[in-house]
Amino acid sequence: MTEDFLSTAESLVAIAAGFHLRGWVLGTSGNLSAVISREPLRLAITPSGADKGALKSDQMLLIDEYAEVLGNTGGKPSDESLLHVSIAKERLAGAVMHTHSVWSTLLSEQHFDDGGLAIEGYEMLKGLAGVKTHEHREWLPILENSQDMCALAEQVARTVQQHPEAHGFLLRRHGLYTWGANIAEAKRHVEILEFLLETAGRARFRA
Ligand SMILES: [Zn+2]
Repeated sequence: MTEDFLSTAESLVAIAAGFHLRGWVLGTSGNLSAVISREPLRLAITPSGADKGALKSDQMLLIDEYAEVLGNTGGKPSDESLLHVSIAKERLAGAVMHTHSVWSTLLSEQHFDDGGLAIEGYEMLKGLAGVKTHEHREWLPILENSQDMCALAEQVARTVQQHPEAHGFLLRRHGLYTWGANIAEAKRHVEILEFLLETAGRARFRA
């Protein structure tokens, strides 16, 4: 494994542990990835079924654009790896992060019939790349959940093409996907969007 992969793996493991502490990736849920090379496309990604609170960097996987594991680590990639590949390709994202928080789960059901969730008027929106004012209106598309990952990956590709201004999307009763130009930006987007989802959720449910 290259030094790039090893340092990237260590960064993602540290971030995963932090997300676990926040309750965003409990019970082995969620996954984090970062692009190691663009041509050919190679991603470092968390393995399937791993406790994000106890993940070690030597468990991290290197995958190609078909979500096939390269190297002989013994780990298996998450079924959702194809969604990471889709976003890395369509958005030219440097990192993709996926959480299963309580608020994203609740709100993705509440707003599913609207096709998405609008969040506007909050100062924290300025933490999203390119957003300069709290008056920004962020539209998070909501996709139906599915276990057919090839079909879902295609739908994800279409959704991020149709919403070029979006910083993330929700899967119904499932969770949040967001991304960034690099690992730091993707992590910031998770923190910002989870904050905004909790704020929107608490306002809606008076919790
Ligand atoms: Zn998931």
